[in-house]
Amino acid sequence: MIEKREFYIDGKWRTPAQARDHEVIDPSTEEPCAVISLGGQADVDTAVAAAKAALPSWMATPPETRIALLEKLTEIYKARSEEIAEAISLEMGAPIDMARSSQWGAGYGHLKNFIRAAKSFEFIAPLGDHAPNDRIIQEAVGVVAMITPWNWPMNQVTLKVGAAIVAGCTMILKPSEESPLSAVLFAEMMDKAGFPPGVFNLVNGDGQGVGSALTGHPDVDMVSFTGSSRAGIAISKNAADTLKKVHLELGGKGANLIFADADDKAIKRGVLSLMLNSGQSCNAPSRMMIEAPAYEAGVKQAADIAAGVQVGPASAEGRHIGPVVNPAQWGKIQDLIQKGIDEGARLVAGGTGRPEGTNRGFFVRPTVFADVTPDMTIAREEIFGPVLSIMKFDTEDQAVAIANDTEYGLTNYVQTQDGARRNRLARVLRSGMVEMNGQPRGAGSPFGGMKRSGNGREGGAWGIADFCEVKAVSGWA
Ligand code: NAD
Repeated sequence: MIEKREFYIDGKWRTPAQARDHEVIDPSTEEPCAVISLGGQADVDTAVAAAKAALPSWMATPPETRIALLEKLTEIYKARSEEIAEAISLEMGAPIDMARSSQWGAGYGHLKNFIRAAKSFEFIAPLGDHAPNDRIIQEAVGVVAMITPWNWPMNQVTLKVGAAIVAGCTMILKPSEESPLSAVLFAEMMDKAGFPPGVFNLVNGDGQGVGSALTGHPDVDMVSFTGSSRAGIAISKNAADTLKKVHLELGGKGANLIFADADDKAIKRGVLSLMLNSGQSCNAPSRMMIEAPAYEAGVKQAADIAAGVQVGPASAEGRHIGPVVNPAQWGKIQDLIQKGIDEGARLVAGGTGRPEGTNRGFFVRPTVFADVTPDMTIAREEIFGPVLSIMKFDTEDQAVAIANDTEYGLTNYVQTQDGARRNRLARVLRSGMVEMNGQPRGAGSPFGGMKRSGNGREGGAWGIADFCEVKAVSGWA
């Protein structure tokens, strides 16, 4: 059993002031695999004090020095890739191959993108020729509390920490209590890279304890949160009394508009990208919408592809999907599949219960529903599991209306060979991101949502700017 009870505060590993033990459960076996401490207000107070004390000199450190430390961190992150992948795989159930490639890789990509973006980031920029003595300074927001979820643990930690390093913020990270092991490794890397004490601090804990102590703390200047819309609302309320900046990356219910002229891999891509990470991605294309002439063939293809998706333990090599993270999530997904059946959707693959051949682990059958209507629960709620809802549309306008008829607005997807249509849809879909024809967004592209999917953007130059205050100056010499 792994034991990681200490917190990283002010450049040292410390015994928590106020803690209780918490077992991390391996979702593939349902067995405890590690024990950590959940801290409390006293630990938060110590960590925030360290971050506050470190802030003035860290803000005054030249960006080149901060970037050099980020480069060192990125080298260490690369050198310890296997350990990170193993920790992620164990704590949240990503199959080891996928943990090595997508999960570890996402973090590595973000760190490299921040290095690139930092080199051209305008910390001081002219306002324009009309005001030659004006400058716009972007400087660190200050002490940032970072609260992250378990589904893409290093993706989210690096998106926040990388940006904060470049901006010159000091920080306290509280990772999800489901996935603390990769975060502890990350703290070890920050230590090895040689960041000054207090710049980066790690306090493990749950939302009610450490999470709310951080978000309500008067010396925290900003909360950068990724997680559920429910927790995002609670955090916003708790942060309101101290009027801190609150950056929220929340849930999603992405629509994937597949027109009849889409390329022949569109359905397969849509199904597999929903299934990736067992459906536990905020930007999952969970509502597949197929144009009427292509609908029946598309449904059949989607069902066949889902039926071929293998499910297996995280430790096994291969391209299967792993379990979902915990029993609560497993139960919620089962209830939603049952609701889909009860509300009249047509089940064409998977269903409730355990996948064949599994009797332990939080495994879910890859499931596809057809004939889903926009009012059904499975079309509206974020399921966060390998469950695809397929709907039919007749016209482009109808497709847009259905796609936008959701409280979320994170990512939408479009599949069509018609360039003019793609450009039209990119403008009218109400989401922070629109991905078309399977083309991944470029390095450093801003990640974030509208509506109940949150505010602010992460990654690259936009991500750095989110960790900055804007200061308008006249009379610059
Ligand atoms: P969650 O909201 O339950 O927990 C996320 C984090 O918030 C954890 O660290 C948790 O301890 C903490 N937390 C919970 N309640 C809190 C409170 N009241 N105060 C302070 N902290 C609190 O979410 P989760 O189950 O870990 O993650 C799944 C959710 O995250 C999904 O809704 C998913 O869509 C969303 N998500 C969004 C993005 C994005 O970038 N938009 C990325 C990944 C995941």
